[in-house]
Amino acid sequence: MAGVTRVTGVRVYDVGQGDAVALLDQDEAPFLQIDYGGRQGNPFAVRGAQRIDKTMPVRPGSLLVLTHWDEDHWFSARRGGAARQATWLVPRQLTSPRAVMFSADLDEIYCVPEKWVGNAKCFVASNGDAFWWEKIGSAPRPPASHEDCNLTGLACSIVRAEDKSVILLPGDAPLHAVGHYKQYLGGAHLLRGLVAFHHGSKSDWNRTTRHLLRGFAARSPTFDIAFSCANPNPYNHPHIRNYLEAAPRATAHVTANLRSVGRSSIDILF
Ligand SMILES: [Zn+2]
Repeated sequence: MAGVTRVTGVRVYDVGQGDAVALLDQDEAPFLQIDYGGRQGNPFAVRGAQRIDKTMPVRPGSLLVLTHWDEDHWFSARRGGAARQATWLVPRQLTSPRAVMFSADLDEIYCVPEKWVGNAKCFVASNGDAFWWEKIGSAPRPPASHEDCNLTGLACSIVRAEDKSVILLPGDAPLHAVGHYKQYLGGAHLLRGLVAFHHGSKSDWNRTTRHLLRGFAARSPTFDIAFSCANPNPYNHPHIRNYLEAAPRATAHVTANLRSVGRSSIDILF
């Protein structure tokens, strides 16, 4: 976070079905990227690589945190050029041969040690705003044939120092699976924003996730929820009603709907 004096929020890009979220610095410019996905229904199919780099700029050597190895979280990096020059921080997971080949094409890549599972880490801006990230579950020991990578990847959040307001960035992990989110409920934190996990899927949605969201919603006057998915998609994402039942005062935004008004992203600012 060198040179970052405060974190102003996040930019959630329309990548079709997938996630790509940038953290914004004091000038509302991206300085750290979380995921760089989008395959089905992505808006870059026609004009390709240059448009990806221009729409979702990534500075060489800046940090790119990959929540997990599903292609809808990294596929745009394979097509564009900028994201491959970032420094990647990734989870150890069972993944596809295509993901392995892609990883070999990155300039710099670091794997989170398994001994850090459940142990949230943070990077801090000069004013105390914090970016938290946590590997939420252990990778299976080899030889392994299956892994639910939504439950063993990285989940993130940002906390503004000034008023302890929070933006949750869980990737595809359900809220209840992220250890450090539970600590926010016990404190005086307010929810400012949320990127719905797993593109607004209702799988992994359970009583604990609902309870967590209700707890936050009850004491947060208003907040934004971004649903990052294609329209249409074969999974019937997003299930907005689940969220609005738990948090009636929240405002929902669907990234795919941005295209009809000529926009490529939505900002959630503190
Ligand atoms: Zn996904």
